[in-house]
Amino acid sequence: MTNPTCTYCSAEAVYTRDYEGVSFCSKCFRHALEEKVRRTITRHDMLQFDDHVAVAVSGGKDSLTLLNLLIKLETHFPMSKITAISVDEGIKGYRDEALEIARKACEKLGVEQVVVSYRDLFGTTVDELSGMHLGQTPCSYCGVFRRKAINRAAVMLGATKIATAHNLDDEVQTVLLNMLHGDPWRVMRSSPVLRDPRGKFLTRIKPLCEIPEKEVVLYAYLSGFDFQSVACPHGNEALRNDIRNFLNQMEWKHPGTKFTLQKTTEKLRELLERTAPVSQLNECAKCGDPTPHQLCEACLMLNAIAS
Ligand code: SF4
Ligand code: ZN
Ligand code: ZN
Repeated sequence: MTNPTCTYCSAEAVYTRDYEGVSFCSKCFRHALEEKVRRTITRHDMLQFDDHVAVAVSGGKDSLTLLNLLIKLETHFPMSKITAISVDEGIKGYRDEALEIARKACEKLGVEQVVVSYRDLFGTTVDELSGMHLGQTPCSYCGVFRRKAINRAAVMLGATKIATAHNLDDEVQTVLLNMLHGDPWRVMRSSPVLRDPRGKFLTRIKPLCEIPEKEVVLYAYLSGFDFQSVACPHGNEALRNDIRNFLNQMEWKHPGTKFTLQKTTEKLRELLERTAPVSQLNECAKCGDPTPHQLCEACLMLNAIAS
């Protein structure tokens, strides 16, 4: 059996996008993905010509793809600036390697890299927290602390935007996860762009939110990026794993399922925004970060750890 040919140039195809019924050679695939990210950025008005973007770079395929794509885009906007922020959660044998990969990638691209650690910011590490039986998974703590660490570093740098590398799969998994946790507020907060109309909190953007995970992997692979492929030893969220498997099965049987879920969620967010606008967020009484409550999640968690 011969391989399919590229729909756009007739070269040998390396990938078929089932949800669109088109095949790509390596070159056309990379071009199509870059164009798609460009369109996402424009559609959601994610970037301005003079932004200083703080990009969260972990050393994984998603963040290295994002960093490379934003650098490509930046060449058209001489007044913009990009700084990488890497977070050291304190996960022995895992994060050390990823940080080194991130460091080398930033060096190669000529991007300044700032590293912040949970140890310095919160006085603890994910390895330590995982042994404390705190009633939540290490990922729960880790995710909340990472958001806070990136926010702190971005503010310190004087950045105007924070870019994170969440892909389509991350996004729709999180939607279902939050629905199953009964938390509509979080469904709203995980939108592709989260901006505070009062300008008190830094705008967060997710330029890869419309790219399926397997396409990010393929892009990183075809681009020859060196990225960390080892999984985190604490990353075993049972519910998220079930949701991931369910969504992958649905996508396989019904191509386009993930996009449909994302679009439906976008519509729901618009409705939710009318009843609970982001502008109504409070400042955490302890640290000043945005929160719908009196204390932000990170401060609540830090209180629980200290008690
Ligand atoms: Fe943190 Fe969980 Fe990711 Fe590991 S898998 S780095 S614990 S969020
Ligand atoms: Zn082609
Ligand atoms: Zn707080």
